[in-house]
Amino acid sequence: QNYCKPTGQIHDACCDYETVESVNDELFGRLHELVATPYFRYHKVDLARECPFWEEDGSCMNRACGVETTEEDHIPEAWRSHALGKLNETSARKTSSPAGCTEISDSDFCVLEDELDSEGVYVDLLENPERFTGYAGPSSARVWKAIYEENCFTPVPFVDASRPAFEGGTGFAPVSSGFGGLVGGGGGGAGAGGFGLAAGGWGESEKRLLGSLAGPRDPDEEVCLEKRVFYRVISGLHASISVHICDDYLDQRTGEWAPNLDCFITRIGQHPERLENMYFTYVLLLRALSRSGPQLVRTLDATAGERETRDRLEKLVRVADGCPSTFDETSMFSGGKEAELLKSEFKDHFRNVSRIMDCVGCDKCRLWGKMQVTGLGTALKLLFSYDAASPVDPGAPHAVALSRSELVAFVNTLHRLSESLAAVDRFRTLWAHRGEPA
Ligand code: FAD
Repeated sequence: QNYCKPTGQIHDACCDYETVESVNDELFGRLHELVATPYFRYHKVDLARECPFWEEDGSCMNRACGVETTEEDHIPEAWRSHALGKLNETSARKTSSPAGCTEISDSDFCVLEDELDSEGVYVDLLENPERFTGYAGPSSARVWKAIYEENCFTPVPFVDASRPAFEGGTGFAPVSSGFGGLVGGGGGGAGAGGFGLAAGGWGESEKRLLGSLAGPRDPDEEVCLEKRVFYRVISGLHASISVHICDDYLDQRTGEWAPNLDCFITRIGQHPERLENMYFTYVLLLRALSRSGPQLVRTLDATAGERETRDRLEKLVRVADGCPSTFDETSMFSGGKEAELLKSEFKDHFRNVSRIMDCVGCDKCRLWGKMQVTGLGTALKLLFSYDAASPVDPGAPHAVALSRSELVAFVNTLHRLSESLAAVDRFRTLWAHRGEPA
């Protein structure tokens, strides 16, 4: 019996785990090839920007925290700042902020860096994989705390006590067997949902979450869909980062990089709600892909994407188009003035999260943190910048404009999440064969 496979409906999505996994089987290989093309592997980022919220006390000195940068003359001519500046004028309408170094327009969910900013460096993403760096302790804890406690609305996902949250649980942390059992945490189900919450290792935010799940809920306390989505997206990103850390982990005794099953169990396996949020984040990105395909291809055309890369992107979009719908964005921000206010609050919070990325004290983590927050912000922009009254026509001239770096960030973020799902599958196999001689 396979105890390690989540099954059933994913909350707040309109699909189940099985569907998402089969879609991922179709897409992962294509995404993996796409991010290896020159267009998608070179990215410009400013890693020197100061934390705007607190004094960051020193940066991570581990070798693994360092980023290898690429000289501008190694970047294909068409994507260098001066050339891209001309192309971007036609592909994306932008308004400079008063500070002149960041850009924000009403449709943006992120504070975007100016691609033409001379402060930024070029990075080859393939040469700087997201993996274990050793960045931890008060600095990283402060960043996550600031994100959850100050910017995530109330970090309490809604659980409808009237229906089982997971039919039969996620299957990932059963009460007496499975991952929870392995590390002694135990996975007692909480409330009706059978979340399989582990007893140990709770942060403040999750203690509140546990409290909220433990008993019958007052309907007035229920958190609205938009706020739940915000929390789920952040938690899903956090879970995906954790999966990459555990999947490409440095064994400090042998100096070898390899998957670390204990790391995965402690950070994810014991917390099925984190796993569910990771699937949810992928679902949201998938929806943005299938809904905005032609627009993504148009952005690539407008920013000198190569023919072969265009073909690959088009094929990816076509496959995604043929997949079942994963998320209903029209159920969000609908309902007049109040909804508009909520949307603007949602944007403000998300923009704040993008600013907090400058407080990450490890360059490699900052690179991928910024990239993925930009990628998620781009997905939100694609999903929510249309007039709710007139359903999307991505071919329409008024469709929201993207820059090359938003497209690069979106596709790479989709790939990060897709790879995390694939890694979870590998961890399942490791779990199934645990204890066997190598
Ligand atoms: P943390 O992951 O720091 O979590 C802090 C607290 O948040 C936990 O105690 C728990 O209460 C809660 N929590 C944990 N996961 C979730 C979740 N999914 N949903 C909701 N709540 C949760 N380290 C690397 O080695 N490589 C990287 O590439 C990397 N990138 C990072 C990017 C960013 C933006 C940040 C802020 C940190 C990054 N780190 C990276 C550090 C890494 O995320 C952890 O902070 C570090 O490994 C310490 O982990 P931890 O077990 O103490 O818990």
